[in-house]
Amino acid sequence: MSMLINGYEVVIGLETHAQLQTQSKIFSGASIAFGAAPNVQACAVDIALPGVLPVLNREAVVCAIKFGLAVGATIAPRSIFARKHYFYPDLPKGYQISQFEAPVVSGGGLDCQVGAGDTAIRKHVRLTRAHLEEDAGKSLHEDFHGRTGIDLNRAGTPLLEIVTEPDMRSSAEAVAYARALHALVRWIGICDGNMQEGSFRCDANVSVRRPGAELGTRREIKNLNSFRFLQQAVDYEIEWQINELEEGRAIQQATVLFDPDTGETRAMRSKEDAHDYRYFPDPDLLPLAISPEWIASVKSGLPELPQSLRHRLVTEYGLSDYDAAILTAQREMADFFLRAVTIAGSTNAKSLANWLQGEVAARLNREEREFDKVPISPEQLAGLVLRIADQTISNSIGRKVFDALWQHSGDSADEIIEKQGFRQITDSVAVERLIDEVLAANVKSVEEFRAGKEKAFNALVGQVMKATKGTANPQQVNALLLAKLKE
Ligand code: ADP
Ligand code: MG
Repeated sequence: MSMLINGYEVVIGLETHAQLQTQSKIFSGASIAFGAAPNVQACAVDIALPGVLPVLNREAVVCAIKFGLAVGATIAPRSIFARKHYFYPDLPKGYQISQFEAPVVSGGGLDCQVGAGDTAIRKHVRLTRAHLEEDAGKSLHEDFHGRTGIDLNRAGTPLLEIVTEPDMRSSAEAVAYARALHALVRWIGICDGNMQEGSFRCDANVSVRRPGAELGTRREIKNLNSFRFLQQAVDYEIEWQINELEEGRAIQQATVLFDPDTGETRAMRSKEDAHDYRYFPDPDLLPLAISPEWIASVKSGLPELPQSLRHRLVTEYGLSDYDAAILTAQREMADFFLRAVTIAGSTNAKSLANWLQGEVAARLNREEREFDKVPISPEQLAGLVLRIADQTISNSIGRKVFDALWQHSGDSADEIIEKQGFRQITDSVAVERLIDEVLAANVKSVEEFRAGKEKAFNALVGQVMKATKGTANPQQVNALLLAKLKE
């Protein structure tokens, strides 16, 4: 199913660089920690002194295997590192070590959720390959007064480049895929997903065509480091390409940059072809051999994968597909839910899911925090949900307890309910006593009600609820009040 824009179909393929969470670089022992002073984390291998030799980091390979398993891909028993040549000041070797003809991972795919709520649809994106490579250094243009500084701390940082088939048909699908991939690499613990620090960045290849025609010529938007920029850049690019074609100009294959300030893309260079890079197998590195035993041992250490958990949330806990998709979008949220539901019981699964997607998500959003910084525990939320379920407190008081849990205190929901006197008054004698007091103090409203004014009744209900600090059951107050007034 694809949507046409001015009679054109959009085609998008993404290439994503995920920085792998290893201790050290992919071919040297230098640290990859972010934020160090320039060049203190660049060793002889990273700055390409003559005579040094690369040694492959086993952990980086484990990350690639985990990824391959998680997306149902083929893991090559033998893959090859190749030299990709280009000149850049922050690439002292004159080539980047990457993989070309024989990547470590090929095939597989990812399911993603496009849109939200009832109109959300699932979309499968096929993966072409994922390969290991090293990052380059950084050129620093600030603070150098017309000159450029070189920081080689990032040189040799391990990356997994994940390439899709040209399967996406809109910017919304591209974003949905990028989000699903982002969630997955964090879920399996191979990448911290920090987009501001550049740990997860996407290149978007975009073309347009008349439906049924051959693929159009693509332009590649480089280094998009937020989902919003990805969406904006792709939308701008689609409009730009359609406009070019409509005005009779052909699209030139090109690499373009997105400028977040103007919201526009602009050509950086015409695109190289693979042969321009003079790829050839790196003679300093042996072929990478991965045995079935190695794959099996990595597999046994993988957490339950999101798609499997999603299925279980539907079948075991009776949640909707949509709820299950939301809960499994982040490992931290899924873990929170699973812990909470073991305490609150599966009859309260839906209620827990609602709290997580409602109040919890809204608060985090407002405070611009991620789920890993959530200030309440699964035990606290489960405690709250249980007290609503057994009618110790009403839903609206539940929100007050939630507030208190969120604001501070390691208190449990029960402790807050006791301390703040939130326990719902269901004792009808006590409620009737309060009603008598309210009626005595509001003679005017009583007369108005008897004269047929409906509004006066609501005012009285409000007064009684206020007198109980909101802890009475509104239905019960309604019934008792009506009975009193008819006496
Ligand atoms: P590279 O960009 O390194 O030359 P590829 O030619 O393999 O590599 O393509 C990279 C990405 O571009 C892939 O995600 C692929 O799906 C996508 N792609 C290829 N052709 C098109 C096209 N005509 N329109 C949109 N995306 C495309
Ligand atoms: Mg590319």
